[in-house]
Amino acid sequence: MRLLVIEDEAKVARALDDGLSREGYEVTVARTGEEGYYLLDSAPFDLVVLDLMLPGRDGLEVLATMRSRNRGIPVLIVTARDSVEDRVIGLDAGADDYLVKPFAFAELLARIRALSRRGRSDAPVRLKVSDLEMDASTRRVSRGGRTLDLTAREFELLEYLVRNGGRVVSREMLARDVWKETGRATPLDNVIDVHIARLRRKVDDTAEPKLIHTVRGVGFMIGESTS
Ligand code: CA
Repeated sequence: MRLLVIEDEAKVARALDDGLSREGYEVTVARTGEEGYYLLDSAPFDLVVLDLMLPGRDGLEVLATMRSRNRGIPVLIVTARDSVEDRVIGLDAGADDYLVKPFAFAELLARIRALSRRGRSDAPVRLKVSDLEMDASTRRVSRGGRTLDLTAREFELLEYLVRNGGRVVSREMLARDVWKETGRATPLDNVIDVHIARLRRKVDDTAEPKLIHTVRGVGFMIGESTS
């Protein structure tokens, strides 16, 4: 996941760069709003962390310009301004969330995670197929009211099937969108099949109707029947 941090204070910028990189994010720092625009035009980012007090065009102007160019990218404002009025202005200008300095790093990480989930999809958080229910925000899954204990990968796999409910999902799609691997020398087919088998045991072994179906030669789909 690629983050653009627009922050003029060298110390803060470096701390954010180090901390977020350690968490596995790909971080790029811009020291001015202009540099921020330039970077946004030159590379795809998943989220922007934006300081409000910047030299030249301040953060609010940067934000307004981004929004007028129709960028739907999530923006988290991080600033020392903490009056209610400033928050309202920031959110009105199109920020998705607001964090006041000084803040705990864990808090920043939590906000980024929440925004990236929201940014990834405006699809509903609660999903349902037959008596299988999932909550994409709490990552809780149940079937017939009984909680299922899934691994993170199994959850993502199931969520992908459910979000594509009624459509056949190929192994290539799963490799690309769930495993995020393309162009591997050896296909992930066996790995995917093992995960599907495990998921099927947890979802379908003790319940009817069976929900996870194999469509021979094509892939998988979820639903009460394959038709
Ligand atoms: Ca600043």
